[in-house]
Amino acid sequence: MPNETIKVVIAGPRGRMGQEAVKLAESTPHFELVGAVDHTYNQKKLSEVMSSDSEALIYTDITQCFQETQPAVLIDLTTPEIGKVHTKVALEHGVRPVVGTTGFTESDLEDLKTLTEDKGIGAIIAPNFALGAVLMMKFSQMAANYFEDVEIIELHHDQKLDAPSGTALKTVEMISAVRSDKQQGHPDEKEILPGARGAEQNGIRLHSVRLPGLIAHQEVMFGMDGQSLKIRHDSYNRASFMSGVKLAVEQVMKIDQLVYGLENIID
Ligand code: NAP
Repeated sequence: MPNETIKVVIAGPRGRMGQEAVKLAESTPHFELVGAVDHTYNQKKLSEVMSSDSEALIYTDITQCFQETQPAVLIDLTTPEIGKVHTKVALEHGVRPVVGTTGFTESDLEDLKTLTEDKGIGAIIAPNFALGAVLMMKFSQMAANYFEDVEIIELHHDQKLDAPSGTALKTVEMISAVRSDKQQGHPDEKEILPGARGAEQNGIRLHSVRLPGLIAHQEVMFGMDGQSLKIRHDSYNRASFMSGVKLAVEQVMKIDQLVYGLENIID
């Protein structure tokens, strides 16, 4: 049976993520891009302001956009402050939000959880939409049931401000949920240079590499006597996040609650 068409509005269409989302909506047969929300270019066509063939109009007023275009889903790829407002307004108008915008606090998520329950419609907020990165974490958790010894190497572009990455910390959290506590390495091990063995969280070593030319990469290395297992994911560009956005748009139509994190919608 063919998929039902899903009417989509994209907020932040000129941004680096937003441009990829516009391409995704244009190239997915069962998605229909009916409008966009931006803080400028009101009532211009998308094709007039960016590299796109879309005749969909841009709105600076999100409420007007929802009233005139009647979308099923809002994809928000803007900034933390605006993303929170958009998500709330979408739910109030019965539009299901798929949010890639980062920076939602626990309290924001609690408020949105209550709102989705009141409205009885789904919402998906995911700080990492790279499907492969989520699978890498899930597979690592699966492997940790059998391999107790593990180290994580995460590699990112040299403009990244935080280390280790949020994905590396999330991987430790997921592995720790199934791995029994173990002191890895030699008990008398000494660092000749401080930091040589990396950071440690829950007894797991984390190593952060920062180099120009890299985007976002992670390798989870497991070892036991006579064998090793490496699970690696590489994001080469922002298009890498779009398979997750596509999946989320499809899944958000089938749920009636708030889901935080793509790992919760992948079997
Ligand atoms: P970006 O290139 O800065 O894009 C943000 C866009 O939002 C810009 O075009 C900006 O326009 C626009 N914007 C600002 N205020 C707006 C408003 N009131 N209404 C509509 N649009 C508005 O950033 P990006 O790299 O695309 O990232 C966007 C968000 O996604 C960030 O929060 C980032 O952390 C997050 N992100 C998530 C993932 C994931 O997997 N979930 C991956 C990468 C990034 P101006 O430039 O004119 O201000």
